[in-house]
Amino acid sequence: MQRRIDWAKINKIVEETPEVKTFLIDVPEDFTWEEGAHTHFALKGFNEGEGPNRELIRHMSISTLPNEGAIGITTRIKELCSEFKSILKTIEIGTEVALFKTHSNMPLKEEGKNIYFLTAGVGIATVRPLALKYLQNDTNVPSIHSLNVDSSAQYVFTDVFTTNEEKNFTAQYVNSRDAFYAEVTRLVQADKDGIYYIVGSNDFLKENIALLREHGVETSQMMIDKRASFLEEFFGAEAANVEVK
Ligand SMILES: Cc1cc2nc3c(=O)[nH]c(=O)nc-3n(C[C@H](O)[C@H](O)[C@H](O)COP(=O)(O)OP(=O)(O)OC[C@H]3O[C@@H](n4cnc5c(N)ncnc54)[C@H](O)[C@@H]3O)c2cc1C
Repeated sequence: MQRRIDWAKINKIVEETPEVKTFLIDVPEDFTWEEGAHTHFALKGFNEGEGPNRELIRHMSISTLPNEGAIGITTRIKELCSEFKSILKTIEIGTEVALFKTHSNMPLKEEGKNIYFLTAGVGIATVRPLALKYLQNDTNVPSIHSLNVDSSAQYVFTDVFTTNEEKNFTAQYVNSRDAFYAEVTRLVQADKDGIYYIVGSNDFLKENIALLREHGVETSQMMIDKRASFLEEFFGAEAANVEVK
């Protein structure tokens, strides 16, 4: 059976910061996704050779909710960058891109427990749809606290991630690892029973998992965007206890 590949046009490019852009893409018919989803985002030519050209494919989180009417892909493009990002630097509105294998490992867990987002840089894009879902709906989540670390101090999505006391929603941005880990420690000391979503590099995931564990947080309370086959690398043998969606 041929795998479904959707081609869709970029309809808007938002400059979030000088280095971070969001590409808003038309939603193909029958294309749906859940909050926290990632997709395979590919550029023209990726499937024209004998095998797929991996230089033209990247995993990307979808930073929007379906009710926003566009598929958002948010990424940082530095001056020195890969071939993939250098194409994105000058890509034009109207260009078609491919999307396939869309799946969410990170839906909003509505278990009556407080939720904490621990994100690095543009990793906050992954949890933006979860925050919107929480803010727009009645959910079985008592509160959300978002903590983002970005050494550039050019924070993204500050419109969504703004403290709203009425909604029990707190947003914090810090620009240093020391401040970040001090804050994680404070949060976990106050709530060992919460659900912790961790988004960033593999080292970032491992450091946070280790710190949370030191404070008694169980594997089942930690959410990372990894397939079941990779969970053991992060959680060790306990990976078997992690609920996989
Ligand atoms: C489930 C999942 C979801 C993801 N979601 C997102 C997402 O929403 N947004 C996102 O941006 N990424 C996301 N990623 C990561 C993404 O797939 C890419 O790995 C990441 O963006 C890096 O892209 P890149 O390889 O094109 O490298 P780049 O970003 O271009 O480069 C990576 C680093 O290498 C340096 N570099 C690159 N080329 C050179 C060079 N020639 N000389 C010197 N230094 C260089 C850059 O300065 C940069 O520091 C996700 C990954 C997974 C697994």
